[in-house]
Amino acid sequence: MRNLNYTFCELFYFNHDELKQPSINIILLCVKLTISIFLLFFIFFSYSVRAETIRLFDAQTGVGNAIVNAFAQDSNGFLYVGTTAGLYVSSGGEFTRVDNENNAIFKNVTALAGGSDGSLLVGADNALWMRTGFSFHKVPLKLNAKLQFSVLGKDFIVLVGEGAAKGGGLWRIHHDARKMPVVERFEDDTQHVPILLGNPLTTLSLHVLSSSEETLWIACGRALCRNRDGSTVVFGTREGIPADEWLALTIAPDGTLIARSAIHFVRISVDKDIDVEDIPTSSSRSSTSSFFLIATQSGSVITQENSSLLIRSSSGQWKSTNFLSKHKLGSVSSAFIDREEGIWLASPNHGIMRLAGFSVWENYGTERGFPATRISAIRRDNFGAFWLATEQGLFHYSSHDNGDDIKLPIGHYNIDVRSLLRTGDGTIWGAGKSSGLVRINPETGNIITLPSQASLTGAMALDSAGRLWIGTAQGIVRIDDPLHPPSRLSKALVLNDRRINALQFDQFGRLLALTDNVLFRQKPGEDYFEPQIDLIELGIGDGRLMTVTMSNEVWVAGIRGGLRKIELREEGSAILSSFSRNAPYIEVVTSLFRDTRGWIWIGSSRGLNVLTSSGWRHFDVNSGLISNHIIYGAINEDDDGSLWFGTDSGMSHLTAEHIFPALPELHTCITSAYINSVNLLGNPRIWSDGERNLSVNFVAPTFVGSNDLNYRYILENVDTAPHTENETFANYSNVQGQQISFDVQAIDFINARSANHAHLAAHMGSGLGRSSRFLIAFVSCGFLFFLISGGSYRRYVMVRQKNIDRAVRDRTRVMEEIQAQLRQQSRVDGLTGLLNRRTALDELSYLISSLAPGELIAVSLIDIDHFKLINDTFGHQAGDFVLEQYGLRLRQTSGPGVMAGRYGGEELIIIYPIVRKIQSVIEEANTLHRVLCMPIRVEESIVVATCSIGLAIISPGDTPESLIGRADRALYKGKRGGRNCLIIAD
Ligand code: GH3
Ligand code: MG
Ligand code: MG
Repeated sequence: MRNLNYTFCELFYFNHDELKQPSINIILLCVKLTISIFLLFFIFFSYSVRAETIRLFDAQTGVGNAIVNAFAQDSNGFLYVGTTAGLYVSSGGEFTRVDNENNAIFKNVTALAGGSDGSLLVGADNALWMRTGFSFHKVPLKLNAKLQFSVLGKDFIVLVGEGAAKGGGLWRIHHDARKMPVVERFEDDTQHVPILLGNPLTTLSLHVLSSSEETLWIACGRALCRNRDGSTVVFGTREGIPADEWLALTIAPDGTLIARSAIHFVRISVDKDIDVEDIPTSSSRSSTSSFFLIATQSGSVITQENSSLLIRSSSGQWKSTNFLSKHKLGSVSSAFIDREEGIWLASPNHGIMRLAGFSVWENYGTERGFPATRISAIRRDNFGAFWLATEQGLFHYSSHDNGDDIKLPIGHYNIDVRSLLRTGDGTIWGAGKSSGLVRINPETGNIITLPSQASLTGAMALDSAGRLWIGTAQGIVRIDDPLHPPSRLSKALVLNDRRINALQFDQFGRLLALTDNVLFRQKPGEDYFEPQIDLIELGIGDGRLMTVTMSNEVWVAGIRGGLRKIELREEGSAILSSFSRNAPYIEVVTSLFRDTRGWIWIGSSRGLNVLTSSGWRHFDVNSGLISNHIIYGAINEDDDGSLWFGTDSGMSHLTAEHIFPALPELHTCITSAYINSVNLLGNPRIWSDGERNLSVNFVAPTFVGSNDLNYRYILENVDTAPHTENETFANYSNVQGQQISFDVQAIDFINARSANHAHLAAHMGSGLGRSSRFLIAFVSCGFLFFLISGGSYRRYVMVRQKNIDRAVRDRTRVMEEIQAQLRQQSRVDGLTGLLNRRTALDELSYLISSLAPGELIAVSLIDIDHFKLINDTFGHQAGDFVLEQYGLRLRQTSGPGVMAGRYGGEELIIIYPIVRKIQSVIEEANTLHRVLCMPIRVEESIVVATCSIGLAIISPGDTPESLIGRADRALYKGKRGGRNCLIIAD
């Protein structure tokens, strides 16, 4: 459908008036040209002429052209960027401008801090603003315009540089009950005086002061001083700290002070453990004016050394990377670590980027003794052992005492479980299709099965009262006391005529049940479920998977592929919300999972996509995942927040432990903001040389690994067609024209999605003197006059007519293609790919009406045997799959000219249009019967779906109805006679 929409837009590209009245358009064109020429004149004279370096961004962002001074994240997870062009907030990877209360925008934001209560402190335009709730209030602190200031820590200690005597100092800012900002002079609090005495604050101090909670650290002289609980402690040579000029200080999340000088790296823990190391460095140490120093939750430290990024892992290894130079970041003007351990770096000249951590993959495949079969569920028990549901049964692995290695598995090959859940007492519950509910005592290894009347779908949920809700092919079953379960599952409690594909609690604690066609929600406190949304509206086929976000959105995936978001309100019905345009296009979703961080994981057969508050990311085998094929429902979160992914060749574990080895993955971040640095090279001033070079650098606004990306760009009036390359630059030499217009778009072919366009409109300077500009203008006007009046006009009209003809031809062809596609779409049944009933009947009527004397046609009706049983045993989805396979086999096996259609639910029709010998039709039908009845592999099961066929050959006077009627009676006879046969009507 996407294609069709696109081409329809194209169809209306030009209008009829344009075709009929070229002369009016020519006049219009001339007027436009004249205006352009005068505009050019204007540009020549009113601007100083020089080659420009332009940074790009698109309409939505605006961060790109500015220098980023500060980052902050509020307690809601929103990331703020303070720039010389204002304040921006990111959500989902895009940046939006934030204005203050009076709608007067912040112009130059130099300091930012996020408070622990959702407040935000903004230092902008030499004033301080505090946001509490939704409005900004000016902080009553007079700041001297010349002073620099910064905000330290979450409790908002504001430091103003240039010496206390000149107005600098330290203030603590908080808010009162009315949410109005309150200012206290920090030094007035005598407890803190000692640390500042003799150390007048200077702008330099801004870099060497760090505070967290009640602790303040400052580099005092050549020592490090700490003020806590009213007393100041000096850490100097006596404590083992080398006397040095400290360049940067930071306090790690665990309270450890980290400081660096040009050569030393020091850590002072909360318990005063001191650790001094030399900073590994290349021999050629250059003097970097600004050093940044940041520490991650997991204990890694990142700093800059010359032009490289230096990372120290929590285990003490140092690693130097060339990201800064590779991405032309040069020096880092500010750095920040977000709550998701992403490292944000800003450079004065080249936008910002985010280095994403969190991707230490550990894989468990055959080499570690794990089965290379489809793993559909992974659960760790309270003893750290694994329980795996695989296509070969249930496996149990326990770890050795020494940690790493895994003991041989205990396999329960007869237990087919597709999902696993752990209840509060440590019991693991498995939902099996044929084995019913499985109850595992991980301590004793004892496994009990609770048979069920209806097969279990794998949907399970545990409510806050400890009750276990189980989805079956016929409704929801509940175990009220899982500690004392019944010996077999009772009949369905609710929705007992529906197949429950997924169960999940919403943020109000009400159970959601996803059935094939309807999403139901439990009425508060009642065992009654109300329909919320009809899934047919969503166009994703039968509902299969769902997950509920922190903001109470339900994400639903269906068997036909695609994802939909449904907004649940506390009262009233649900609303279908439009899907974020940034979402990667996902064909068939195999897993949907929201982790406790709020991230949404989407498994598919092409790897994983995850939506975090900073945008989408993609993982596949290239990023360390064991296989791209995530099995249905096989994503689970461990107690420590790490994630497990079941695939068709083992399982992958994603830990949050070390950022260090993960760093090589680089992701640019701000939508188009890092589409940067458009340099006009060469010397554009020399017009006569004609050599004016344009070099454009760009990096895509995406979190997807850059390998997947291509860039489509076009330079107007130079390129006749867009280029598609996977390089992040475009070079043009000898660019003609004063005004250039360049457009670039990032395209992720693998995920079939594209990012925003970025557009560069630049004025290529020229060094022409005033007189030559006049000359050019004069000549241009003369040429224009010639164009309008002279012989070229006729040629122009001819060329134009030719272009129009070509456009008409192109569009006619496109139109025909669309019509053919539409015809095809309305003729074919979506599931089986066979003709739909109406088309099959039309074809049959046509054949009968145009039948020549002596010609024969035949019809067979096929009905799958015991299809209800197949649905009930293997699930409706499996039933659909069987039908799909029937369709495929029919299309592959039926001879030329033979037409196959879907006559009804699981009834198919075959039309043999030219029958020469009755015997050969019978043979053909027999072959087909044999092929159709071959076993079908459906996920973990082998399904034998036989069918019965009734074949009728046309007799004189037959109508389509009478012919089909005879085939149907033959079929019925076959059913009564025991099925799985071919019966020929008399
Ligand atoms: P018999 O051998 O007598 O044909 O037994 P049967 O169970 O196949 O009986 P019948 O043909 O009457 O039942 C057809 C069933 O097929 C009923 C319906 O639930 C199911 N069905 C119809 N259309 C679809 C479909 O598109 N997908 C699935 N999965 N099931 C379908
Ligand atoms: Mg039937
Ligand atoms: Mg049937």
